[in-house]
Amino acid sequence: MSGPKFGTAPNVYNPGEKDTEIIDVLKCAGFDANACMQCGVCTGSCLSGRWTAMRTRNIMYRAAAGDASILEDPDIWLCTTCYNCYDRCPRDLKVTDAIIELRNLATRRGYIHPRHRKTVDILHKSGHAVPINDKTKEIRKELGLEEIPLTIYTDKMEVQKLAKAVFQLPPEEEGGD
Ligand code: SF4
Ligand code: SF4
Repeated sequence: MSGPKFGTAPNVYNPGEKDTEIIDVLKCAGFDANACMQCGVCTGSCLSGRWTAMRTRNIMYRAAAGDASILEDPDIWLCTTCYNCYDRCPRDLKVTDAIIELRNLATRRGYIHPRHRKTVDILHKSGHAVPINDKTKEIRKELGLEEIPLTIYTDKMEVQKLAKAVFQLPPEEEGGD
């Protein structure tokens, strides 16, 4: 794939050939690319944006323009899916769902954020997205519980079955860390 590698895309509009698949996924998510009036209410509502460089309006502007660099921008992974922007958008655009769909498309193209890739790997290996660590085992023991609860965690065969059943990630793009 041409263009900048994951994590190196500038977080500015990158005019070029329009990627219509991006517009299509926005539409499926309930985000009409022509309806966004760039008011910035989504950015002003974004808790993640208070602590990071993520700017929701900027993401939606680039996505609505079909700018493919948005899929390689790590900022789309900073959304906590809190739905503040979704609730406050004066045009009733489904911003959060659109960002989730952008991530899904980015993932299909091999641009999942490395930290999210790690979480998927852990899920494949243990059956849990957040595995039980030594500290948790210790606390469970203190509470008189088994170190490990009887979940998929204890059954390697089930973990293998789950790993085959849940989504498989495409290979890592060069440039991910
Ligand atoms: S709040 Fe809605 S209309 Fe305003 S910039 Fe964000 S997505 Fe566009
Ligand atoms: S859903 Fe995501 S983009 Fe919207 S306000 Fe919450 S963190 Fe920001």
